[in-house]
Amino acid sequence: MSEIVLVVAAHPDDEVLGCGGTIARHVAAGDQVHVLFMADGEASREEADIRQRRLAANNCADALGISERIFLDWPDNKLDSVPLLDVVQSLEPHIRRLNPSIIYTHFSGDLNIDHRVTAQAVMTACRPQPGSLPALKRILSFEVLSSTEWSMNEVFAPNYWIDISDTLEKKMLALAPYDSEMREYPHTRSYQNVRQLAGLRGASVGVEYAEAFVLLRAVEKSV
Ligand SMILES: [Zn+2]
Repeated sequence: MSEIVLVVAAHPDDEVLGCGGTIARHVAAGDQVHVLFMADGEASREEADIRQRRLAANNCADALGISERIFLDWPDNKLDSVPLLDVVQSLEPHIRRLNPSIIYTHFSGDLNIDHRVTAQAVMTACRPQPGSLPALKRILSFEVLSSTEWSMNEVFAPNYWIDISDTLEKKMLALAPYDSEMREYPHTRSYQNVRQLAGLRGASVGVEYAEAFVLLRAVEKSV
């Protein structure tokens, strides 16, 4: 049975850094993938920069085969300045409408404040209530280079891996629209390090390349 997948990312580029190889796998399997961006990712607030970043997000989504892109346009790098209830309420109608079976989102311990608020908002919007989100099977946290590993004291300890050996090159191509966000190695957010992290995560479970996650919730309705 095909899945309805929702990726909730704070900024355009988090989706591909966090789970681009996994998205490509879902698409190849015939699943429907939707991505929702909380903020635009441009601290400058320049119209041209925001337009450019959105274009990059759409190009990346095209490369990965993502069907729907939702932009909520909350202010960049200050999601904590917005009441959490407002953030949650902006998310809830989309989650209810899509009724996803799998959700990918941020790790709550990331250094970046928008990532932390996004993780909290997703878990709040998905709080289990009878009859709500009937299809939901899994919520997983991904890691984003230059935020998750720069966390102050919370350690990202993966307990769920997805083999992306066949889709790593697709992930690397889908990163290209965000080239201006990438840096030279040995910056952690470099193309070389994206490959290295995929190699480390893969070797941890005996495959060539993987993306790693923390499983936040799994609900099995049949065994
Ligand atoms: Zn981000």
